[in-house]
Amino acid sequence: MAERIGFIGLGIMGGAMAENLLRAGFELFVHNRTAGKTSHLESEGAVVCDSPAAVAAEAQVVCLCLSNDSAVRSVIFGDGGIVQNLRYGSLIIDFSTISPGAAREFGSELSKSYKTAFIDAPVSGGDIGAKNATLSIMAGGASDDFERAKAVFEAVGRKATLTGPVGSGQLTKAVNQLVVAITVAAMTEGLMFADKAGLNLETTLEVISSGAAGSWTLDNYAPRVLAGDLKPGFHARNMLKDLRIAIREADDLGLPLPVSDLLKSLYTGLCAHERPDFELGNHALIELYRNGLMTKSN
Ligand code: NAP
Repeated sequence: MAERIGFIGLGIMGGAMAENLLRAGFELFVHNRTAGKTSHLESEGAVVCDSPAAVAAEAQVVCLCLSNDSAVRSVIFGDGGIVQNLRYGSLIIDFSTISPGAAREFGSELSKSYKTAFIDAPVSGGDIGAKNATLSIMAGGASDDFERAKAVFEAVGRKATLTGPVGSGQLTKAVNQLVVAITVAAMTEGLMFADKAGLNLETTLEVISSGAAGSWTLDNYAPRVLAGDLKPGFHARNMLKDLRIAIREADDLGLPLPVSDLLKSLYTGLCAHERPDFELGNHALIELYRNGLMTKSN
């Protein structure tokens, strides 16, 4: 019999992933800090719970998709948190992008004090991948827990890979984010150059996308930039969070990452432009160039 699944954190990613779990036929128990985000799932058959602890009381497998380390810590260990109601033999699957060290700490505390399994399982593929269940999942954990999580992974993603022990999924995601951030910067400078040179942007994109410059970023983000749609998708502030995680890990390894350091400064500048009514996606880096914040140096 299929396990009962819980899902906590129904933002851009979690809301769509939870919907795909419902479509796959799982019995689903959901919670979100801000209540309004559960109504579409409730109308499709999910049971809405009033706290993470209430989800843990119902589900054998509890999925999380939250903003950062402190959100995951408080949902698991905080007031009304999962550990207050854990069922024997539960598994927690954390789809959030957090620091590898935090993932290791949560996994070890859950195993030692609560006899509960934990897998870090950050995802890549964006809001579109979450909607279409085509995410790439980078898991860290024990192989029997990975096997147990497979039915969930198959419902939300196209490919799930066990990359090593707990924390390895987050390390792999850090690699992913370094590459994505640099690719977004490459797209931005390419589009700015094409525009300044008087080229037709649609034609330019079409040509370069089918050559060596082609990438997921060009296919998915460049059309949004051309349409003037700079909303998240993937929040610019989350890209900044992810660059900080990756650069901190690289520092610990004694590895310099000069291009990523520069991107961290650019995203810091971009995020300073955000307001509650003006949220920016990670593809909005072009705002900095358009607003004259980039000056030419020799
Ligand atoms: P989002 O739309 O901002 O959703 C964040 C979720 O976390 C919301 O449900 C939010 O609840 C919850 N949350 C934040 N702080 C909390 C706290 N202290 N206690 C309880 N709940 C809290 O972000 P998202 O784009 O779905 O991203 C979620 C995670 O996936 C992040 O780690 C992100 O880096 C990662 N990710 C995102 C993408 C993407 O393209 N969007 C792709 C890959 C990975 P409220 O609704 O109450 O604010």
